Amino acid sequence: MLCPCGSCKPFSLCCEPYYSILNLKQNCPDNDKILIDWLEKYSEPIEKTFMSKTEVYIFRISLYFNKIFDSYFTLGFKPYLLQQKELDNQIISIKLNILHSLIASLSCLSQGLFLQSGIILRSLIEDCLVLLDISENDEQLQKFVSETYSINNLISRTKKSVPPNIIEWYGYFSANFTHFGQVHSAPYLPRACYSDNYVIVVGLQNLIRAIVTIHIVLERIYFKQVPEHFFWKEDTQGGCLKFNNESTIFSWTDKLGSEINQTYPLNEHKKGYNYSDKTFKFK
Ligand SMILES: [Zn+2]
Repeated sequence: MLCPCGSCKPFSLCCEPYYSILNLKQNCPDNDKILIDWLEKYSEPIEKTFMSKTEVYIFRISLYFNKIFDSYFTLGFKPYLLQQKELDNQIISIKLNILHSLIASLSCLSQGLFLQSGIILRSLIEDCLVLLDISENDEQLQKFVSETYSINNLISRTKKSVPPNIIEWYGYFSANFTHFGQVHSAPYLPRACYSDNYVIVVGLQNLIRAIVTIHIVLERIYFKQVPEHFFWKEDTQGGCLKFNNESTIFSWTDKLGSEINQTYPLNEHKKGYNYSDKTFKFK
């Protein structure tokens, strides 16, 4: 008899010992393969519905992110006498990991994995703040170079260099997603119809917050190397960077946000769809 794992080997020479240790019977209908089924059956239809509902927004968000990517992602560290090349490569790697976290978060959200999508974004913001920390604090740079860098007190070291909303967003992702909170016990299930509007609305808003954070941090770090500025202005005495609360990027995010809200009203319940009970508030 061939092994059900798909190896084309006889069962007795393949997975049989793993079955018998667990006291499972071959071909027993109770042997659900949740993990493989997720990859092969469930994730794709959820993702398809997500894209059909949000494609225009993902497109616009993607255009914005591309601009940030083209401006900042290939730049290395600021001019530095020692280990320039190694440091440049490490900084580029951190930025690529930030990009991959953004993609992973979008990928989770597209498959209905809402909570998990937010957990990744908290880690993304942390990496952004680390970039800022080692760019602006020589003592932390020394620790980074000598591989003794630690994120302890990262927020207190970096909060003076970012607008308060970034620290608030970091707290929001920590309190609601990374750490146990109401979202963790909410009766929400990923569904092929992607019915829960609040997941679409909050999920996209989370992604936009993460991208704006990346932009604010990178524009500050590379202020002198990049000619176009959206968030930071040099004050008249020169030297100090001041944050522009009236940045055109906020008009962009407000416009997109209100369009998403109008298309997907939070409490909409259409006939014939299954909805999760929304019984929690974000902290
Ligand atoms: Zn097998």
